[in-house]
Amino acid sequence: MICEKCKRSFERPLELYNGDWACPLCHESLTLSNIRLVVTDETEELFKMSEVCYLRALKTPPADKKAYSDLLTKAVDFCKEAAHRGHPKALLRLAYLYDAGYFSIDGSEAFRLAYDYYKAVWKGKINDMRGSKANADYSEGGMKVRKSAARLYLNLLKNAPPKMRSLDRYRYDSELRAVKDAGLYESGGDSASYGVIAGDRAGRICEILDSCFSKEHAPLFGLMMVSSGEFSALAKMTETGRTGVRNKLLRIAEKVDLYLVDVTRGVPRAVRNTGDLAVADGNYCLYFFNTQGKHALSGGKMNAVRKSLQRGDSVTDFARVNELISIISRGEEYCDYVFGDDDITVHKSKTESVGHALGDLIKTVQKNVLRGEA
Ligand SMILES: [Zn+2]
Repeated sequence: MICEKCKRSFERPLELYNGDWACPLCHESLTLSNIRLVVTDETEELFKMSEVCYLRALKTPPADKKAYSDLLTKAVDFCKEAAHRGHPKALLRLAYLYDAGYFSIDGSEAFRLAYDYYKAVWKGKINDMRGSKANADYSEGGMKVRKSAARLYLNLLKNAPPKMRSLDRYRYDSELRAVKDAGLYESGGDSASYGVIAGDRAGRICEILDSCFSKEHAPLFGLMMVSSGEFSALAKMTETGRTGVRNKLLRIAEKVDLYLVDVTRGVPRAVRNTGDLAVADGNYCLYFFNTQGKHALSGGKMNAVRKSLQRGDSVTDFARVNELISIISRGEEYCDYVFGDDDITVHKSKTESVGHALGDLIKTVQKNVLRGEA
């Protein structure tokens, strides 16, 4: 991939908490509409691996939630890898996953990303570079793939959240005309409905916490808004390990910093023992900080981020955690915010401290939440 700003080429973009991409060299954001759509032997292979994992995930028995989520994570990792290199079907699959609410990001951010990916595919020119292996899938400039992208795009706009529908660029009527003008419209095709991949809240949060141990891409910290009822459901979850049946949350808390913050009072409470699992009625934020799994930042830098997030006069202060909670609880559709090493990297220049980068990240989150409100 080549950055339009600094003109240098790189293998993989930085991937930010809200799904945006940035150049790893100059840290400028990358515009999806400029992605070159190309199919190569390598990206086609990655995409096929992704599909295999996806189908295997769908075939796991319902009781085996761990195998299901492991396979799905693998599918998404392969798919992202191919999408980063401009594979059109991988971009389409990624768009669909955003559209269906698979990723833990704000609903309006997910909508915007699905929109951008679908649009990049139907508006783009698809170049099949596979020479003799090229097949009908991408003939006529990838007409077939572009038509599916256009159909899903119109379907997305038709079901847009009300606040999005009022914006000009998301108007169904004018976009329908644009799709027709491009010769990509198929009548009757845009009314299909697609199921949303929705699980229960406690299961979803468990998936996020499990990802802390990922050997490919582990999150650094995250905030998940929960009601007392949702937290109680989470606190009841168990799993069977080598030593028998255990409490899931407490097992994770042995390796990952877990705190429950009372949203109205801003008081954090560590989750470590059985006694910490009982909560009074109210609204909470489950905050975690994680150094397990695979990270791009060094141990020293991760600790500096942790100190900066949790700093204050006493261990119970958490000034920046509370600042983030007050920002994200403003958005109507807030749910889970999961930040990775790339979110720190993109905000850090060589001379600045990690704490400074964290401050800039918080400003970005605030700006994005306000944009969602507008
Ligand atoms: Zn750049």
